[in-house]
Amino acid sequence: MPNKYFEKLKPYLDKNSSFETVLNLIDWDNETLAPIESSEYTSKTVGIISDEYFKSIINDEVKNTLKKLNNEKEFEKLTCIEKSIIKELNKKYDELESIPKEEYVKFKELTSKAVNIWTKAKEKSDFSIFAPILKEILEFNKKFAKYRLKSYTEKYRKDDKKDVVLYDVILNDFEEGFTTKQLDEFFEKIKKELIPVVKKAVKDSEKIDDKFNSLKYDIDKQEKFCNWLAGYLGFDFNKGVIARSAHPFTTSLHNHDVRITNHFYENNLISAIFSVIHETGHALYEMNIGNDITQTIIGTGSSIGIHESQSRFMENQIGKSKTFWKPIYSKLQDTFKEQLQDVSLDDFIKVINKSAVNITRTEADELTYSFHIIIRYELEKMLFSDEITIEDLPKIWNKKYEEYLGIKPKNDGEGVLQDIHWACGNFGYFPSYALGNAIAAQIFSHMKSIMPIDEYLENGNLTPIVEYLREHIHKYGKMKKTNEFLEEMMNEKLDVKYYIDYLKEKYN
Ligand code: ZN
Repeated sequence: MPNKYFEKLKPYLDKNSSFETVLNLIDWDNETLAPIESSEYTSKTVGIISDEYFKSIINDEVKNTLKKLNNEKEFEKLTCIEKSIIKELNKKYDELESIPKEEYVKFKELTSKAVNIWTKAKEKSDFSIFAPILKEILEFNKKFAKYRLKSYTEKYRKDDKKDVVLYDVILNDFEEGFTTKQLDEFFEKIKKELIPVVKKAVKDSEKIDDKFNSLKYDIDKQEKFCNWLAGYLGFDFNKGVIARSAHPFTTSLHNHDVRITNHFYENNLISAIFSVIHETGHALYEMNIGNDITQTIIGTGSSIGIHESQSRFMENQIGKSKTFWKPIYSKLQDTFKEQLQDVSLDDFIKVINKSAVNITRTEADELTYSFHIIIRYELEKMLFSDEITIEDLPKIWNKKYEEYLGIKPKNDGEGVLQDIHWACGNFGYFPSYALGNAIAAQIFSHMKSIMPIDEYLENGNLTPIVEYLREHIHKYGKMKKTNEFLEEMMNEKLDVKYYIDYLKEKYN
């Protein structure tokens, strides 16, 4: 018999999920097709819908019903899926309830406007255009984190209260259970182990001739090949679309409408190829969410870190291997006969795995990637502890790039303005990328020990690989957390050693 309290919540949950879908759709439109002047006006609509979204959850009826369901006896009567939904709803409720509604709506309007301001600032390579609105966004983020500091400490940090910092609150939003202290250790290990490897690998890579990559490649042809490649990996075009945007990303409305974007450069062939493999990794995750939980609060990826592990796994562990390209390289050569006829598969593989310091995070190789993240992580920590202000960002950004990677951005466009995340209000997001890399390496190490991955790839048969991920990760949505997935798969928690070993082996 269905639980009467849970039944009472259902219409609220459905309404909330529908408003979320609408907001995601507007976001998608803003970043793909909406004209430049629209956001100033559409942000009003976003504000009104955000207000409805807020009210659909934060009201007395939901509050009282949740209270009933949080009673242990009542909670135990629920099904497994219902329990997960209530846990997630509690988290969302606490987060939203702590913020005054007017501030929440204002923040949503602000970030909706900020994306276009960031785009203009980036085009003009002028941080001063973006700085004022970024300052407002940061202030909101800090304020919201402060509202929740106490409840966060009570819920997650009972045993180490004295170590809690404001930045922990937002980190926990993206990676539940992970703290600044843990991430400091995680990144220190990476720095210590990989800095010497980076220097050697970059030097060795200088000999690799990658001239073919910067020849001229017709963009429509690139797009056609990339879309074919997405399908080859398992992207289902009946449940998804691929568009163009300034910054490739994935949006999911539900498991039957998953959207990804790609970005093309006439003089860089491999950029779009690896963007589409990456985003397809995200898309497969969302498409494989179980039908039993779709359009519920748990019907999406578990965390950003797990999401990134799925995209990175496809992009790097799978997409950069020779066995992956063996059955399909000739198709790429046929698409670009003139440019690639003299480039052998081996040469192509060398180039896609070349280590070179790049000023742009999304173009970085696997080895230097984490340093892009470390820089952002250190800057965000400083912003949240008031060590620096928004105005200091470009200077410190450039200094850190010189210190860790030995390069300096030519301007703000390729420097501090390169990522969209802060414009979207997403502080605390970047560390998840590094966690995703580490999780991907750990999963790959495990999968290699239980199935003939290379044999599957050589035969052009990706199904068993995707099927394994679906069965052990994708279908669960938010029902499990990072360490639960890993422990159930391989009896271990997240361990950065797999990632470090993988990179050392690859680049030494
Ligand atoms: Zn990604």
